[in-house]
Amino acid sequence: MCGTDMRSFRKEDVVGKTVIETSGAVKGKVKDVVFDLGGGVTFLVQGADGKESQVGLSKVTGISEHVVVRGEPAGAPSTGPWASCRFCGSQMPAEERWCPSCGRSQT
Ligand SMILES: [Zn+2]
Repeated sequence: MCGTDMRSFRKEDVVGKTVIETSGAVKGKVKDVVFDLGGGVTFLVQGADGKESQVGLSKVTGISEHVVVRGEPAGAPSTGPWASCRFCGSQMPAEERWCPSCGRSQT
């Protein structure tokens, strides 16, 4: 599946996958996908402590062997330094451990 760009996905593609923030923090596993009539899609994520949280699709930056989501903004957006992904070459903040585009680990 090298280089596959998952711009579309099926529920089966994401349920059970680990959800990782681009900072490297593991949020949990996708338990279900929630659709609303307004067209919104939300991933229902169960954390290691059993608590459920919802992650809007707009925060999902990539789906590969993991579901990669943008972390909560920690103050000001990153102004660099920037690095390019080892796999797909997209530009990303150097402190990110997971590529926002292809979702692969940079470590
Ligand atoms: Zn990449």
